[in-house]
Amino acid sequence: MNGSRRLHTLVPAVAVAAAMFLSAVPLPLAAQVPSTAMPTVQSTPSPAGNTTALAKEAEGWLADLIRIDTTNPPGNEEAAAKFVAGILTKEGFNPEFLELAPGRSALVARLRSAAMPDPARALLLVAHMDVVGVDKSKWTVDPFAATIKDGYMYGRGSIDDKGMLAANLAAFIALKRSNARVNHDIIFLATADEEQGGEASIRILISKYWDKFAAGFALNEGGRVVLKNGKVEYVAVQASEKVPVDVAVIARGPSGHGSVPTKDNAVVHLAAAITKIGSYTAPARFTTIVRRYFEQLAPLEDDELAKWIRSLDTPDRGEHAQRVISDTNPLWNSMLRDTVAPTMLSAGVRANVIPSEARAMLNVRLLPGDTIDVLLAELTKLVNDPNIRFEVQPNAGLAAPPSSLESDFYATITKAASQEFSGAPVLPFLSAGATDSAQLRLHNVQAYGVSPFPMTDEDSRRMHADDERIPLASFEKGVDFLARIVTEFAASK
Ligand SMILES: [Zn+2]
Repeated sequence: MNGSRRLHTLVPAVAVAAAMFLSAVPLPLAAQVPSTAMPTVQSTPSPAGNTTALAKEAEGWLADLIRIDTTNPPGNEEAAAKFVAGILTKEGFNPEFLELAPGRSALVARLRSAAMPDPARALLLVAHMDVVGVDKSKWTVDPFAATIKDGYMYGRGSIDDKGMLAANLAAFIALKRSNARVNHDIIFLATADEEQGGEASIRILISKYWDKFAAGFALNEGGRVVLKNGKVEYVAVQASEKVPVDVAVIARGPSGHGSVPTKDNAVVHLAAAITKIGSYTAPARFTTIVRRYFEQLAPLEDDELAKWIRSLDTPDRGEHAQRVISDTNPLWNSMLRDTVAPTMLSAGVRANVIPSEARAMLNVRLLPGDTIDVLLAELTKLVNDPNIRFEVQPNAGLAAPPSSLESDFYATITKAASQEFSGAPVLPFLSAGATDSAQLRLHNVQAYGVSPFPMTDEDSRRMHADDERIPLASFEKGVDFLARIVTEFAASK
């Protein structure tokens, strides 16, 4: 017998694993409370000292930042920058506003090295101040009130990215207050317009002000501390990211009266094309980081899933394993291949008029190194319709080289993670989403993405969604983790 019989015995185990990993069904509140509880095993003492009181202070900063509405558009990040500048000034820093557009500034501050400054060894702490919009009617609390409930702080940006902004600020201040010798410049940077990537984004910031924050290493959002069954399973450190490209699909046909339909109706052609594109699966390709991620993930998963993870790149069972893994977790699917998501449809002006044009938008995410031309050649073949054409939109992201997994800063993060989270391993991670790090990597910065807060999948999925919230215990742990990384790196030779 062949694989099809195996599949029958496999399905329940995979389904269970999928349910555990994705747990899409919200748990009743009583069951959710323990998920915020941090592991009780005491972590190795931190070189940053005890950060508990500082983390409480930072919780107040986070609440105030949430209350400053920086929904982008329009962003209005300058209000948040002023608030952060006030805190930095009180701590003895000289923060500087980097103006980008009316009402929109980034903010930079520097803790100088006691040794000869070397920008190639400087560390940049990056977080963005803008947030995505909200549908207030879908929230159970005011999204800009920083309500504390059941051990969580609710609010737009509580995770993405004001949580990290407040935690970066705390780690930066912890180092300054400690009066420890600092061997490398540590630079705090609060950016604007991350969510839209427009006129005030990091691209513009780098082109106008690079010298103000030039650094060899950066710590940014984009990774995860995966909390499962009350325990940190692993720390995912983003070292690479997929490249977003929007593509319009345009169908043309003769316009006419709705009462006399013909076979070349643009709406019908577009619908057929989208159906075919929706069923397309790009071939899997293993980048170095994805290969390392799965190698290190296998021993953490149950035996059945581990077996499939280990078969991912084998000649005989690889293709089947890739299907199993992709079906188990859509994020794993995104890490393995280019993806295409139809996201918008438009056609027609009146019910009784056949339009001459119908359009759809595809949100494509390419693995770094893949090109849109190759993918579109595949889709053109698949759609096989002369009435359909593709048009790449001008806002595409840029492919950046991955950050090194051999750098001493990556080693610092790995060591700090293990000490902070009772031996939890660090897995290098390719994020499906885009961050400011791509632009930094294009400027030779070894940028690493962490989200330092231990979070369950259920809480992580609230980023950009309704009722975004951060467990306060996780926030405190995240402050300690960041302070540990920053203090350790600052002291290193
Ligand atoms: Zn973000």
